[in-house]
Amino acid sequence: MTHHPVPPALAHSLFPEEILEVLRRLKGAGHAAYLVGGLVRDVLLGKAGADFDIATSARAEQVQKLFRKVIPTGIQHGTVTVLTRRDKVEVTTFRGEGAYADGRRPDSVVFLDDVVDDLARRDFTINAMAFDPIDQDFVDPFGGADDLARRVVRCVGTPRDRFTEDGLRPLRAVRFASVLDFEIDPATREAIPATLSTFARIARERVREELSKTLLGPHPGRGIRLLHETALLAEILPELLTTSPGQLARTLARLDAAPREVELRYAALLWDLAPEVAEAALESLRLPRAVIDTTVALLRMQSFALEPLVGDAELRRRLSRAGRALVPKLLSLGAAEAQAGADREAQATVHDVQAATERVLATNPPLTVGELALDGRAVMGILGSAPGRVVGEALRFLLEQVLEDPSRNEPSTLEKLLGDWRAKSS
Ligand code: ATP
Ligand code: MG
Repeated sequence: MTHHPVPPALAHSLFPEEILEVLRRLKGAGHAAYLVGGLVRDVLLGKAGADFDIATSARAEQVQKLFRKVIPTGIQHGTVTVLTRRDKVEVTTFRGEGAYADGRRPDSVVFLDDVVDDLARRDFTINAMAFDPIDQDFVDPFGGADDLARRVVRCVGTPRDRFTEDGLRPLRAVRFASVLDFEIDPATREAIPATLSTFARIARERVREELSKTLLGPHPGRGIRLLHETALLAEILPELLTTSPGQLARTLARLDAAPREVELRYAALLWDLAPEVAEAALESLRLPRAVIDTTVALLRMQSFALEPLVGDAELRRRLSRAGRALVPKLLSLGAAEAQAGADREAQATVHDVQAATERVLATNPPLTVGELALDGRAVMGILGSAPGRVVGEALRFLLEQVLEDPSRNEPSTLEKLLGDWRAKSS
């Protein structure tokens, strides 16, 4: 029995008209067509699904002929993207997979006519349901709806086999358990350690995708704990295992306390590592350069909000070193660390730094060489010097003077300070 009574959440769901239109057109041409995968899962969980994936018995060439705007996204795998008026939708031919020789991708793809065979190749029961809203046909051959209700991530088929076919799946199991706050079914979980060598061969980009989704979910601490318990963490970020158990526990709490922004979550995760080590780890995960740079900058300045204030001049120096753009993130990260440690004193400090930062930034003090009332050209004129190292030194000296007291940021005052500086340094 694979076709089941339609759960109310699906029966009552209002799908976008243009998605229904795509399904109608496929079915009108005599093909089977279903919504599949994450969308069906999310609707059953009462969440608004974002991307629509359609599985169909039509071959990609047939799909291409049925619609005006089609992008041949992955024709050889049976996937095309149909552009509708307001949306786009991936349409993939029912397929099965040949043997997996390398534990990463199937050696061949076979196209099939029955939706149940397509669902059988999918990773977890909660991801292996299909729904045709036109004929109200719900297909759930592996008990996905029951597993959703029990809040369990369970492999379709034999876990050990499925994990050796595609070594990414254990990480996906953890990702779904973490994001959805589900348990991993015992048999599925127990199969993980024996398949770690397959996982080790997975492309770092695919690992990064799943890790980032785990970190950006509502329970990142739980996700990292599951990765640790299943020994996946040693494959993904061995650097983290050099930290003590106490540090790891603190890291899980810091992660949960950090806002859901990619750089903040990675900085919370790598908090105890030297910035250079963290940078190498982020590079090995092939994160975008901008994300790496921001995360490393956060780690370099991680004490920004946690060191007690000495005075406004010292705060301006801190702000100058951090750069305005990083300040809100540094405050959030400091708050997450203080909360993770349940440290009242640290929390009070973060609070003080936050308030003082707002007050000081409201006066719009100069924080960079570019904001000085004298530019490099003017400095050269006053010093009578050609471009060179001394100009840079002079500008840094002036910035230091202005950070100490912003009222000094006037051409005449800076000119006088520069004269004194030259007299002293020559
Ligand atoms: P999300 O909401 O995070 O996108 P999703 O379930 O849509 O979750 P995707 O990675 O977009 O996840 O994959 C779409 C569907 O393709 C999954 O629901 C699953 O049925 C199938 N799938 C994806 N990756 C695999 C895999 N490695 N092995 C087997 N099936 C997979
Ligand atoms: Mg998806």
